[in-house]
Order: sequence, then structure tokens, then C-alpha cells
Amino acid sequence: MIKHKNLSIFVPHEGCPNQCSFCDQKKISGTQNPPTPQEVEKLCDEFLPHTKEEGESYEIAFFGGSFTAIDRHYMLALLQAAYPFVQQGRARGIRCSTRPDAITPEILDILKEYGVTAIELGAQSMQDDVLRMNLRGHTVADVFTASQLIKQWGFSLGLQMMPGLYGCSDYMAYAVDTAEKFIQIMPDTVRIYPTLILKDTLLEKLYQNRMYTPLTVEQAVEISAVLVKMFNEKNIRIIKLGLHADTGMENSLVAGPYHPALKELVQSRMFLDSFMADFATKPQGEYVIVVNGRQRSQATGQKKANITALAKMGYRVTIKQDNTINIDDYRILEGEKQCI
Ligand code: SF4
Repeated sequence: MIKHKNLSIFVPHEGCPNQCSFCDQKKISGTQNPPTPQEVEKLCDEFLPHTKEEGESYEIAFFGGSFTAIDRHYMLALLQAAYPFVQQGRARGIRCSTRPDAITPEILDILKEYGVTAIELGAQSMQDDVLRMNLRGHTVADVFTASQLIKQWGFSLGLQMMPGLYGCSDYMAYAVDTAEKFIQIMPDTVRIYPTLILKDTLLEKLYQNRMYTPLTVEQAVEISAVLVKMFNEKNIRIIKLGLHADTGMENSLVAGPYHPALKELVQSRMFLDSFMADFATKPQGEYVIVVNGRQRSQATGQKKANITALAKMGYRVTIKQDNTINIDDYRILEGEKQCI
């Protein structure tokens, strides 16, 4: 399988008219200069490979969340700087992320003309009350309409969601509802970003005033495990789970379910959920669970959390490895000595 690589170019939305509860864009815009078209050209030239064969695994990614809502001349200039590299075969396409209410047929025509192949929408939630309370400035209907247009125009569609936003009375139920609506849309990819509280945001004020309690890491893991299972069952590719830590993010993090190995914790949790479902029909006692060697630590859980949880239910389990077992698969054998 071809390993996919992105040349990521951050485009802050200067003068964004919105004030989303979780976003510190104004601060980012003040400290991070928007790239000039010349800088984009230079970056592409330095970073992208020179052969078409290698270029096939590269995409130029304009991220920042509002690419099609920035000044039109500036957006065009960035695309014009990047597109020649797609034409030369040094990248297979361009991807961008944007707001659901910043998609129109006219914008899609422009993106098509300049080699954009994938568009990601920051949907964040599929409940209008949550979108309103987090000052998103768009509706659930906007997400459905924009998604339909993006698919109609033949782009790959990505949807991003943020479990744990302010205004969810039941974090799990709201996240599952959002995922169900994503599944109705059937995007090609999803990103799951459990909500974090950053400095100088509305969420920070609500948190300081005890009006908002973010997810704990444990809750984020539990919810994400359910979401991953839902998307996997529909073959919707999850391209990101949890925010990547960079110095800027770590410095402005106030609270919330940040964990550097969130994905690993979620995979462990998914193993535990499956083990518990399987053991529900088995008598208490000693068992061996055999997994692929690459997943032994996930199956065991951090600090043996899965082994401990099963022991509390009366199942004394040893994890063993066998590399003939498929990834994400496992076999349960009765009795500790019955290993393979
Ligand atoms: S997340 Fe909201 S506030 Fe931040 S740039 Fe996007 S639209 Fe503007």
C-alpha cells in the first residue's frame, strides 16, 4: 500500500467573523503570518519529490479550517502557487479544510479547476443547539447541503467532529447522534477531535465559571471507541483521532482530555469492549487471549488495565501473541496452560 504524505500549510483565517467557542484563531492569526503565494511555491518545491511515481503519494494540504472563507483573491493566489506542482505530477492533488457554510457551486468549480481533490468540513456537531451554543454560525442543514454538493462535484469528502462540546447534556449520546448523521452522509474520511479547552476562548471562560466541564480522558476514550467501531463497520476511514501536540497547543492548553497516545488508549478500550462481550457468555475462570504480536500491549491495556478489568469480572486472563492472527482479531482459549 502506498504510504500517504501531506505537505501541510496552515492558513489562519484573519478577520474571521465567527467566534467559535473552542477556537483561538485570533491569537494564532496574530502570531502566525499567513503564508504568501511565494512561500507556498518555495515550500512545495523544497518538500515535494521530483518524480511522478513518488509524487503519487503526496498531497498539498491547506488546513486551518476556513480555506474557502478567506479572501477570494488570496485563496486563488495560494491555489495558483500550488497547482503547477500537481500538474507536474509532484503531488497527486490538493486538499483543504473549510466551514460547511463556505461551500457553493461557484467555489467548488474553482477548487476543481485548481487540482483540489479532497475537501474536509469542520462539522464538529450534528445538533443545532450545540452548534448555536458554541457560536459556530452554521447549521446541521449546512453540513448536509455542503456534503451533498462536495460529493456531487466528485471530491473526496471528509467530516470532522468534536465530541464533548459545550451544551451536550449527554456526551456519549450526542457523539453517537453526530456519528449516525455522518454515516447517513457517508463521507470518505472522518477526523475525531475530543474537545480541548484552549486559552483565551469562550470555553475557557465557561470552564473558569464552572459552566462547562470537559470530557475526562477516560470519557473521551470510551466515546471514541464507540465512534471508531461505528465508522469501521461502515468502512469510513478515520484519518485522525485526537489533536497532535505541538508546542503552541501545549502552551495554550487549559484543560480537557488531551493524551499523547489517545489512539492507543482507544484501541485498548476497543479490545476490552470486545473481550467483555465475549466473556459475558463464558463461565468465570482462567483464559488465554491470543493476539497478533503488534497488538499485545493494546490488548493488555495501559498498566494492564484490561487484565485488571477482566479480573474484576472473575476472568483471570493471560495475553499471548501469535503473528498468524490478523490485526484487530484475537482468539480466546480456555485455561491458562492451553497456549499455542
Ligand atoms: S473555528 Fe470558528 S472562529 Fe476559528 S477560524 Fe474557524 S470559523 Fe473562525
